[in-house]
Amino acid sequence: MNTMAPPRLTVIGTGYLGATHAICMAVLGFEVLGVDVDEGKIAKLASGEVPFFEPGLPELLAKALESGRLRFTTSLAEAGAFGDVHFVCVGTPQQPGSDACDLSYVDAAVRGLAPHLDRRTLVVGKSTVPVGTAAGLTTLLHELAPAGTDVELAWNPEFLREGFAVDDTMRPDRLVFGVASDWADARLRAAFQPILDQGTPVIRTDLATAELVKVAANSFLATKISYINAMAEVCEAVGADVKDLADSLALDDRIGGKFLKPGLGFGGGCLPKDIRAFAHRAEELGVGQAVSFLREVDAINRRRRARTVDLVRELLGGRISGARIAAWGAAFKPNSDDIRDAPALDVARTMHGLGGHVRVYDPAALDNARLAFPELRYGESALDAARDADVVVLLTEWADFREIDPGALGEVVAHKRIVDGRHALDAAMWREAGWEYRALGRS
Ligand code: NAD
Repeated sequence: MNTMAPPRLTVIGTGYLGATHAICMAVLGFEVLGVDVDEGKIAKLASGEVPFFEPGLPELLAKALESGRLRFTTSLAEAGAFGDVHFVCVGTPQQPGSDACDLSYVDAAVRGLAPHLDRRTLVVGKSTVPVGTAAGLTTLLHELAPAGTDVELAWNPEFLREGFAVDDTMRPDRLVFGVASDWADARLRAAFQPILDQGTPVIRTDLATAELVKVAANSFLATKISYINAMAEVCEAVGADVKDLADSLALDDRIGGKFLKPGLGFGGGCLPKDIRAFAHRAEELGVGQAVSFLREVDAINRRRRARTVDLVRELLGGRISGARIAAWGAAFKPNSDDIRDAPALDVARTMHGLGGHVRVYDPAALDNARLAFPELRYGESALDAARDADVVVLLTEWADFREIDPGALGEVVAHKRIVDGRHALDAAMWREAGWEYRALGRS
């Protein structure tokens, strides 16, 4: 193979991460083959439909398909024959009944691909994994690749945020290349050339450090969120205001305002399972104490959900049973339809379990929520969900909710009571419009 030619890429696992990566790489000029075991997902992508909500991605998928540089398949044999660099982007969820990471999908992808590798090839892990996984996969790859085939493993952790996935992929803050040789480094550089040409910083390191960068970053972000939520608990005890506290801390540029937003806390398919898996892995390695604070970060975060339900109960005069409750939000964060470990749905289901008549609305995640929790009722719009409600609870900070006029909403509800679980609303404006307004950590 001419090493100067751009490598042909495969992306194995075309979920939130993999589909975005495959589409963006094709738009950047690479020949890309997307691979998934989910035939329905592959059929949708091949026909131009992005199977999840991600701003800007449908337009790029259309462009990539039109260019002829992007194709999809369910065949790892086809992937082996096609690709020079294979990105592994399959899921790494939490194991049921344990904090450990379920590596069975990564394992299956590598086992499935390895026998089909027929030339000098780089396999690149992008999934978030416990440190030490890459070392094990390297052994597996060498065992299963055809004799005489030169195969190497690298790790390139992914930092994209759902809702900003296109921009984060096209213009990342940094690239981390965990490599074991100059050849692997050169191959990765070739696979990211258009992004490197923008001046994107690269950290070249070993495999274990690359694996750790991702979980360390997520642990830091989760800690920052739980830190300000711990302050919210203290504020509530003394009648102080966590919003003013957070705003004041944020203006200190050593601290900064990002991820310092008090409220209902974090959820989704990454932060919760990543901090648990990291704590679990550290314990396995005999350094559990070093990150034992992550257990507290998790506990603070879970308490936010219970406390939100308490606030609703307080506002309703002590009783959720029989109350009509509008739950605004289902996705774990705005600009996403992802409901994995979504705090909003956790709170909605708890209130439903307590006998509340809960009606949920979300601008993008309604279909996913309906499928996962058919026992809940759903509204067609924010106002529809709030019709005749005794209380409105804002659980995901979509711009759509922030823009709602408290006066107009006041016309449709039974009682003007609102719990702002995300500190997304202007408290003074809502109070002026006659609403009883409550938020976590505010007197
Ligand atoms: P996802 O569940 O949306 O997608 C995973 C995909 O892998 C699914 O489509 C599934 O069908 C496919 N898959 C499973 N086994 C397979 C196999 N053997 N061969 C081919 N395909 C297979 O998950 P996701 O959110 O895209 O996350 C993937 C990984 O990326 C995880 O490790 C996650 O922690 C990490 N990550 C995710 C994000 C994010 O924002 N979603 C950001 C950074 C890192």
